[in-house]
Amino acid sequence: MDNQNRHDITDAVANSKPALMERQSSVRRTMEIVLDTWNFLILREAYFGVRRFDKFQQRLGIPRQTLSSRLASLLANEILALGKRPKEPGQQYFLTERGKDLFPTMLSLMEFGDKWLAGGNEPPLQLLHKSCGCSCRPVTVCNECLEPFTAREVAPRDGPGAGYTSVEARPTSRRSSDPALLERVRPCSVARTLAIIGDRWSFLILREGWNGVRRYEEMRENLGIATNILSDRLARLVQAGVFRKTPYGSGDRFEYRFTEMGLDLYKPMLVMMAWGDRWLANGKPPMRLRHKKCSNDFSAVVVCSECKKPISAKDTDYLLSYSFNL
Ligand SMILES: [Zn+2]
Ligand SMILES: [Zn+2]
Repeated sequence: MDNQNRHDITDAVANSKPALMERQSSVRRTMEIVLDTWNFLILREAYFGVRRFDKFQQRLGIPRQTLSSRLASLLANEILALGKRPKEPGQQYFLTERGKDLFPTMLSLMEFGDKWLAGGNEPPLQLLHKSCGCSCRPVTVCNECLEPFTAREVAPRDGPGAGYTSVEARPTSRRSSDPALLERVRPCSVARTLAIIGDRWSFLILREGWNGVRRYEEMRENLGIATNILSDRLARLVQAGVFRKTPYGSGDRFEYRFTEMGLDLYKPMLVMMAWGDRWLANGKPPMRLRHKKCSNDFSAVVVCSECKKPISAKDTDYLLSYSFNL
């Protein structure tokens, strides 16, 4: 039994609650795909050009059965597609348009990790933007004014797809992002960022924070989360530097407020949300965002720091500032 399964069983108790109502969210749906550690690692290798089952297995040291099931889920979610190349034997896994479009999400997570989690070192991965010929950094910007934005400059409101759905399955994994696993093949700022977001519960707690919820009790009620899990995740997020824990009232209760670093996580979240809106929302985004600075409704896009054009997987090369440990 792998860790994932063991955790599923451990959390079965927490899951056996009456169905809760949850806001429709494009980020949530995207997170379900991206936040699975193995899915993320498979996707990352796919961006590095890996297409074959055996190669994924060799690169990631992933058990065959786990790899099969993750590839099946990426196929089912239309992130990957099976196909053949002329004159090459066997089936290969190709990124679909949807899959390629997840690249900016990876870049935005990388931007965050490079800024906050590289420990003052050079970013492990240097991007080359082929279309402008520059080595560059990814920058998350407003697609209207092309300027970087901060969480404080964003005003969200309900979009045409707003509403609530009952949540049958609460997050099933205790810690779906295992930090050791995430960095097993290569140092990676995206992996470091995912290790902070931690798992789906941590993500849902972060989202409560962005919705203005600061207090433990309110989070617990909104999320229907077991108190031990909530306490554990809040402690981890405080330790990671995402939240600051401050007393309120008579001083024996605490609020959780975002640090600057925590606020900055909003950017990759919005890039994920934009992806979910494009591919999973049937043309009805649950939420609209206004950039207060330029007064436009906007979505988050990732551009090249040098030419300010959007970066896509196909016009990007990589320089690695480390050697493979394969
Ligand atoms: Zn703007
Ligand atoms: Zn460029």
